[in-house]
Amino acid sequence: MKKILFNLTDAELEKFIVDMGQPRFRAKQIREWLNRGAPDFMSMKNIPESLRDALDEVAQTLPVKIIKKLESSDGETTKFLLELNDGEQIECVLMRTTYGNSVCVSSQAGCAMGCKFCASTLLGLKRNLTANEIFSQILVAQWELRADKFNDKPIRPNGDANNGDVSHIVIMGTGEPLQNTENVIDFIERANRDMGIGWRRITVSTCGIVPGIDRLIEWGRPINLAISLHAPTDELRSQIMPINNKYKLNDVLDAAWRFTDNHNRQLMIEYILLGKKNENGETELYNATPEYAEKLSELLRGKNCMVNLIPWNAVDERDFASLSGNAVHRFQDTLIKNGIHTRIRRERGTDIGSACGQLRLNNAKRK
Ligand code: SAH
Repeated sequence: MKKILFNLTDAELEKFIVDMGQPRFRAKQIREWLNRGAPDFMSMKNIPESLRDALDEVAQTLPVKIIKKLESSDGETTKFLLELNDGEQIECVLMRTTYGNSVCVSSQAGCAMGCKFCASTLLGLKRNLTANEIFSQILVAQWELRADKFNDKPIRPNGDANNGDVSHIVIMGTGEPLQNTENVIDFIERANRDMGIGWRRITVSTCGIVPGIDRLIEWGRPINLAISLHAPTDELRSQIMPINNKYKLNDVLDAAWRFTDNHNRQLMIEYILLGKKNENGETELYNATPEYAEKLSELLRGKNCMVNLIPWNAVDERDFASLSGNAVHRFQDTLIKNGIHTRIRRERGTDIGSACGQLRLNNAKRK
């Protein structure tokens, strides 16, 4: 198997290079390229071609390889399908916005949570990602942004706060981050230290693993927390999220309020709006009825939170239906009337199957 240079310590990398009969300073040059996310040795322009060829025979740069790259028609969203060293596949998504460049990273290959609306969990959990594998997703995105600059791709719109680097991270890709908490913490520490990404620009999204939330509190960094709630009662939530049988709605929210009180942060509540087809083939509201909007308001009234309403990205294998924009707005109007902060998440990259584990799933189906 090829040596993954990114996984080596500085001392190990130096030894590797010296053992190839090369001067030490090459190790430092190579490290700089690795830290910028160089996907291959050919990009390492200050390394002699003969050495690049020799390295290519025995080594690879990052612990992830890009096997597919899709760009949305508006050019704002790029989705990567990445392969890990053991052949597992993961996804990450780069979203260019007016306020900066956000990367959505995966924390596990697959997922064990079994949520009934989600594509990522259909093939089960394969394994946790290492901190290096999570970090590499940021590097892949950062390298892509360099290519934007090189190709004079306009950052949108001109003169905004987007300086062309990765500025925000959301741990909302495949997997449950709080089932891989220590590696996720390690990753976030490094993203902050090595890439200068502020705590407040990093969001961990969880389906509600209470001990994991408590671990984040103990760790103490003022990152953002997002809770995938998707239902305002235990009865409904248990039907679509098996984890609710283990950690009940109120216990999850209590843990979340402990977190936000500690850091004086606003909690993000994620709520996918789901419909269901009746026997006549018509779409009926599932968790998006006015009654559920009222119940959700009761849970959240007076709390420091923002409800992110998420239009469901259809997954063929899943027995739900997407709702019209009107239905989404009606649900939102009830929340607003009750004084709850809310916004509707803009769908990005649906034209490239960027939604939630679809690329990985479709690729696995083709195999
Ligand atoms: N396991 C974590 C993070 C990954 S999921 C969590 O549950 O938060 C990230 C978000 O995408 C979650 O809110 C999840 O419920 C949502 N999601 C999953 N499948 C979706 C789909 N098909 N359409 C829209 N959102 C989806």
